[in-house]
Amino acid sequence: MRIDVLTLFPEMFTGPLDHSIVGRARERGILDVRLTNIRDFATDKHRQVDDAPYGGGPGMVMKPEPVFAAVEAVIARARQEGAAEPPHVILLDPQGSVFSQARAWELAEKEHLVLICGHYEGVDERVRTLADEELSIGDFVLTGGELPAMVVIDAVCRLLPGAIGEAESARQESFEGFVLDHPHYTRPAEFRGMAVPEVLLGGHHEEIRRWRRKEALRRTMQRRPDLLAKAPLSEEDLRFLEELRAEAEGGEP
Ligand code: SAM
Repeated sequence: MRIDVLTLFPEMFTGPLDHSIVGRARERGILDVRLTNIRDFATDKHRQVDDAPYGGGPGMVMKPEPVFAAVEAVIARARQEGAAEPPHVILLDPQGSVFSQARAWELAEKEHLVLICGHYEGVDERVRTLADEELSIGDFVLTGGELPAMVVIDAVCRLLPGAIGEAESARQESFEGFVLDHPHYTRPAEFRGMAVPEVLLGGHHEEIRRWRRKEALRRTMQRRPDLLAKAPLSEEDLRFLEELRAEAEGGEP
């Protein structure tokens, strides 16, 4: 997959994208991240990328011309390099639809993403017409779209084939199938009086699978009951949920 990031602060990306799973995916050619400085597309002699808002008020607004020129240059370069389809263009914006694991899986299917990072008071309204979609990483306001872009890149990258060692492990995380992940333990078997559940020490795969599924459902029921309403549940899941409700009411498990 190729991801072009358009930003006024490309130096912010050094570090987060150089290590761990994303760093390795880039080294192995699974992910090709290219950073473009929007300022390089400013045409006036001061290389100005922002201006005061029409109508007055505080803050500065990112001018449309350099953003349009940067997006068009990236699209033209991709075409020259043989891209069959135009890229999927995303504007990071707190007013966009909220990013999710399900959206990360959908984006992981794309060949080429272009991420536009706003800054200051945001982008000129006309920049929105460049985007195929607008994504928010949550109901809070950050100073710029750079951290949200890194969040999207990280979440998508770990879903690309070959990015994570065990092919299945990404499928078992929280939010997959609208259920949170089960608890995890490692050595030692007892730590400061807290013991690892007996079932995990026994090596009985089917019992471990059942325990994990039930605990995942318990977590979801306690912390995110809103997710459970969307989860496709098996007969076994429904039985576990009945047991969990009985346990919560103090009855027999
Ligand atoms: N005035 C804008 C508003 O209230 O909707 C906020 C602009 S914000 C200070 C500057 C830039 O940060 C935005 O253009 C966007 O690119 C990015 N940004 C801030 N919060 C974000 C979020 N929750 N998700 C995605 N991008 C965000």
